[in-house]
Amino acid sequence: MQVISPIDLNRLNEAILASSRTAIVTHMKPDGDAAGSVTAMYHFLKTYTTASVTIILNDPFQRVLNFLVDKDMRKDISIYSEDNKAAAEAIAQADTIICLDFNAFHRTDNLCSHLESSNAYKILIDHHLFPDLGSFDIAFSEPEISSASELLYHILMSMPQIAQDAAKLPAAAATSLMTGMTTDTNNFANSVYPSTLTMASTLLAAGVDRDYILHCLYNQYGENRLRLMGHMMKDLLKITEDGVAYIILNLKTQREYRIQDGDTEGFVNMPLSIADVRMSLLLKEDTDRIRVSIRSKKGTSANRCARMYFNGGGHENAAGGRLSIPVEEVEEYVKKHTHLYLTENEG
Ligand code: 5GP
Ligand code: MN
Repeated sequence: MQVISPIDLNRLNEAILASSRTAIVTHMKPDGDAAGSVTAMYHFLKTYTTASVTIILNDPFQRVLNFLVDKDMRKDISIYSEDNKAAAEAIAQADTIICLDFNAFHRTDNLCSHLESSNAYKILIDHHLFPDLGSFDIAFSEPEISSASELLYHILMSMPQIAQDAAKLPAAAATSLMTGMTTDTNNFANSVYPSTLTMASTLLAAGVDRDYILHCLYNQYGENRLRLMGHMMKDLLKITEDGVAYIILNLKTQREYRIQDGDTEGFVNMPLSIADVRMSLLLKEDTDRIRVSIRSKKGTSANRCARMYFNGGGHENAAGGRLSIPVEEVEEYVKKHTHLYLTENEG
């Protein structure tokens, strides 16, 4: 991780103290890192600034992440897919917008055009490759880190309000930051840096209850999720001769198993446990597109494959994208394009 610029920290502090309406946004279909970083920022701003603070989302948080939302915060969350006018208005009224866990406005889906047309002061805090720096007044962009939540942790610790004393972080913010880091590292399985363990250690010492977080994140699913996982791994998983594992999950099966957003979290990683598999794809049919998740082992770039053939991007070994083709054509597309990708790019 690079040193966080003291000049940018100073500008961030001036911006949040001068703001009267601050908006916080993250990417569509928010995952644990998105929810963790957004809610941590919210608690910090509510404690240390006088601005009104609104969290604006394209879609609601996954069900298992609702433990990060208390009653007071719920009133300050505006969700585009539930009330598009209110969400658009909240963006238009903000004088300062803090963008967490995404690198370009299009990752917010329907919020994109509203963010583009806003004249607010815009701040980016993110860990993805290739940030769209021209869209932001201040950018904290650091790909060599576990998560946006970890980057936000280091930023908040360096702010004068906290001054490297984790006890001064609001307790709920500390819980949110630990949660986002935990989900983006797959509970310390990937993207763990020395700075990540320093963060974990400091937050534990400050009283964060990691057992509670793990209980909320990993032990609160419905039976349907485990049944679906069994079906996917037994009946739907295919592996090509190139060592590409893929699973196509159509809407019919999702309905049959009463699957909600977040229920398939983590499944795309599982085929990587097979020795011969170098890359794993989950292709999930949505109402208007096929959502693609890609994971790869070291030496194969999920990010590059996502950018070249799946209209997306992400991190080196964890990326995503979308396809706009009928679900019946997905299998042929995946076989052909992953083969092309591996033979032309990865040797
Ligand atoms: P997931 O597979 O968990 O949805 O996403 C894995 C990673 O890929 C995340 O870092 C996410 O930000 C990125 N990602 C997922 N979908 C897209 C997409 O459509 N476009 C881009 N640029 N990145 C994506
Ligand atoms: Mn993230």
